[in-house]
Amino acid sequence: MKLYLVTRAHKWLALSRIYIRHMQKIYHLNFFSRVIFLLLTPVCFQFFALGFIWHSIYWGVITSVLIIWMVFVLISPLFGRIGCGWFCFMGTVTDFSGKYSLRKTKWNTPKLWTRLLILIPFFLSAFYFYFINKENGLTHGFAIEPNFLKLSFNDHYKIVWLSDISFAFIMGLFFDKRWACKNLCMMGVLCSAGATYTRLIPVADTKSCTLCGRCEKECLVGIPIVEYIKNNNGLITNAECINCGKCVEACRTKTIKLKFVWNRKK
Ligand code: SF4
Ligand code: SF4
Ligand code: SF4
Repeated sequence: MKLYLVTRAHKWLALSRIYIRHMQKIYHLNFFSRVIFLLLTPVCFQFFALGFIWHSIYWGVITSVLIIWMVFVLISPLFGRIGCGWFCFMGTVTDFSGKYSLRKTKWNTPKLWTRLLILIPFFLSAFYFYFINKENGLTHGFAIEPNFLKLSFNDHYKIVWLSDISFAFIMGLFFDKRWACKNLCMMGVLCSAGATYTRLIPVADTKSCTLCGRCEKECLVGIPIVEYIKNNNGLITNAECINCGKCVEACRTKTIKLKFVWNRKK
């Protein structure tokens, strides 16, 4: 019996070590995922770029890009903003240029009105044209056709692709960390609405945290992590968190980890 318990204890110890090591490397995985999706944009742009959601509604077709982002929004109350943190190439480019940002300010709470100013005309205009197309018999309703927006890498495609990449790059360089994501993106507002309830969040052990602030400095979104550690039992329940794991990697004392937390208060 004693031998059995010792063996079990060793097994659990080994598993927990693997888990901790894995959690420390979470940002490497995240980085890898985002670089892959960024490199795929020249061939998969119509599946990734948010602007094609407008075209999907315009034509009354449920395309891949619509499905992908609908899934990310729907899972955000459970998994947070993994679409923004693990998939979106615009976010990746912003983070890249954001490293050299000329404007480094403290955390500013995102503005809802600026986001709604983009979100409302975006969807209203798309549905307006959809109904016109329907009246003219150009579309008959929302059929599922994932590959409807077939595109070739022609001049028009290249210009839109370059504009998106340049816009994200400039936003990262001249504005606060992920400013456009926090204040302009219509998908950002939908995902952060869901992420208000997310169960996947960074959690810091308040006993071992030295309040050094390294995680906060490295956070890709600029979330005031230390404030959460001090005042929120170590639970980083900020709806702008993109679950990238950068804070996990930055913490030298291995105090902060991404975890599933069912009770967001304790
Ligand atoms: S907020 Fe918008 S632009 Fe930013 S990562 Fe999310 S989907 Fe992409
Ligand atoms: S880096 Fe680690 S120890 Fe430092 S404040 Fe963040 S969680 Fe605490
Ligand atoms: S709090 Fe951590 S996981 Fe969330 S965005 Fe900041 S660095 Fe990424």
